[in-house]
Amino acid sequence: MTGEATALDSTWIAANPLPVHGAGTTKNSRGRVTVVGGSRLVPGALRLTGEAALRVGGGKVQMATVASAALGLGLMVPEAASVALPEDADGEIGAGAVECLERSLKTCDALVIGPGIGSADAAAQLLRAVLEQACEDTILVLDAMAIGCARDLKGALARFRDRLIFTPHHGEMALLTGRDETAIAENSAAIACETAADYGAVMVLKGSDTHIAAPDGALLHYGGGGSGLATGGSGDVLAGAIAGLLSRGAAPLVAAGWGVWLHGQSGRRVATTRGPIGFLARELPAEFPRLLPQ
Ligand code: AMP
Ligand code: MG
Repeated sequence: MTGEATALDSTWIAANPLPVHGAGTTKNSRGRVTVVGGSRLVPGALRLTGEAALRVGGGKVQMATVASAALGLGLMVPEAASVALPEDADGEIGAGAVECLERSLKTCDALVIGPGIGSADAAAQLLRAVLEQACEDTILVLDAMAIGCARDLKGALARFRDRLIFTPHHGEMALLTGRDETAIAENSAAIACETAADYGAVMVLKGSDTHIAAPDGALLHYGGGGSGLATGGSGDVLAGAIAGLLSRGAAPLVAAGWGVWLHGQSGRRVATTRGPIGFLARELPAEFPRLLPQ
């Protein structure tokens, strides 16, 4: 039986504070985030993820993407480092990428994989290699194409139990669980809980209503972001926000809860100036700092 969901509201936010980084904070003390993804077709996705990680106060951000996009991406986010990965003939991240990531996999606190990857095969090859190399202490955020292929990599993911966050929309949850989207829409809280326990992961099952389930049975519900969030790149921003909070030392459920709340509240703020629909995902991260505790 799935228990009653706790509302992800200002009461939850007040009761689950983020780690404090006071006057003596340095960028090193707020951790390292690596984001891996993008493709020739979607070369700017990591701009959203990387910038969101910085805007929640993540310490140092590295973006790793296909070689043809790396320089442009680095110039778009001059505050982050950019790593060029091997690119296959289809413009996806190709074989050998993990060798280029060796150093960052050893040092990063939070690792996002998936935004902007356009091929399930490319995502599976990358995720498999990353799971072999990633450091024990790293917390992984699997998003977009990296979610569906996790189903075949369950064994390799076991090493990361309790250090995993998945951020699927209903279609991605369908790929992960083998159920159809209608079943997921009708039972999203229960399916989020079941999958969270199964993978030892915090499941952020996104939609107009978002359920966040933890492996220990904790369940949060957020329904407040507004329909303007249903726009290209919106989920890429969310994944980056969660990763930035992880790098600051927040526990997975706290980072996921705060990430969803900041993303939704930012949507509401942008909607008041731009209008309820038609604002851009890239407009969300600039709202984060004002929503964070001082
Ligand atoms: P993605 O599909 O990965 O780009 O993620 C979309 C993001 O927007 C998720 O955080 C969803 O929870 C949110 N979202 C999508 N549609 C709506 C909606 N109608 N109302 C509120 N939030 C939404
Ligand atoms: Mg997405």
